[in-house]
Amino acid sequence: MIQVGVNGYGTIGKRVADAIRAQPDMAVAGVAKRSPNFEAKVALERGYPLYAVDGDRTDDFAAAGFDTAGTVDELVAGSDVVVDATPAGIGAENADLYREHDTPAIFQGGEDADVAEASFNARANYAAARGADAVRVVSCNTTGLSRLFAPIAEEFGIEKARVTLVRRGGDPGQTDRGPINDTLPDPVEIPSHHGPDLNTVFPDLDVDTMGMKVPATLMHTHSVNVTLASEADAESVRELLDAESRLALVPPELDIDGAGKLKEFAQDAGRPRGDCWENCIWGESVTVEGRDLYLFQAIHQEADVVPENVDAVRAVADTADREESTTLTEDALGLDGGIGGSLRDPARSPAVADGALDDD
Ligand code: NAD
Repeated sequence: MIQVGVNGYGTIGKRVADAIRAQPDMAVAGVAKRSPNFEAKVALERGYPLYAVDGDRTDDFAAAGFDTAGTVDELVAGSDVVVDATPAGIGAENADLYREHDTPAIFQGGEDADVAEASFNARANYAAARGADAVRVVSCNTTGLSRLFAPIAEEFGIEKARVTLVRRGGDPGQTDRGPINDTLPDPVEIPSHHGPDLNTVFPDLDVDTMGMKVPATLMHTHSVNVTLASEADAESVRELLDAESRLALVPPELDIDGAGKLKEFAQDAGRPRGDCWENCIWGESVTVEGRDLYLFQAIHQEADVVPENVDAVRAVADTADREESTTLTEDALGLDGGIGGSLRDPARSPAVADGALDDD
């Protein structure tokens, strides 16, 4: 069993902890939190040992009625691998702590790439993270694009990619984020940071990205154009994407017109927290004109990096190759092709069926 500590138990950390717990070869050593809020209560109810980030705030946890198992230092010492899911920029500050304990660490996409030896996406470059001391799982948007571009590059080659990312203003719980009533070029500069971030995974990819922010919380939406290096037709692209376990083609007969219905569908299907771990690609949007491929995809920002974190744990622990790890991860979560599989039938999702991942 790989003992995994999760430092930072918010949007990403709580999902990663539940996904780790569902794996046959991993256990949650504990979770570290800064503040004794509702998520601390959830962690204890799920049986995760709770560690305080600041030793001098242990009393605050006690005052709120939450028992702590120790401080984050002890959690790191007792873990084989740490997943750092603290807010952007804090991970880099924690890097010394992990080094001191010689505990391999997995950082998130809010950190700069130089926090780690490798920027990671399981589909695109799993091998780069094997046995590494520090790995960064790229952001939700970069994860969604990496999963898409890896098979397209392998099958057809990519001459040039252009993506407009229509980004949610904040997560549902981020009541301090916006815009509330506007459509923002964000960042105004072109390319947005997403293109250079993709190059940390695909150094040779020629890609331009433009970012926007809109008053939405549920998902990001990508408008994608790829000039292929070789001829293809829409049906062969659809077949290629359909064969990828973390890409779900949304069929027109389901009448899903946006992120709202996608999330509703995931909730109806019993997905924990209504999570869509896969990219959701509108099958009808897959169009090829000459060598230009076009499509729309939705990315559930809170969820798509979760299976990637699980695979990153096996990669740094060097206990499995890509195929073994991704299969283990997906079987444990019940991620079997998404829209066509477990998302349609919750009984096929073992993590849900055995109650391991109850909804909040
Ligand atoms: P979050 O704010 O929801 O959760 C962070 C948690 O860490 C909170 O519980 C917070 O109390 C705790 N925390 C704060 N300071 C801490 C410290 N010093 N030590 C330990 N814990 C501390 O943040 P999040 O959205 O889960 O983001 C975490 C990371 O994941 C960031 O790098 C972010 O960029 C990245 N990420 C976020 C999303 C998303 O959409 N939310 C998607 C992909 C990647």
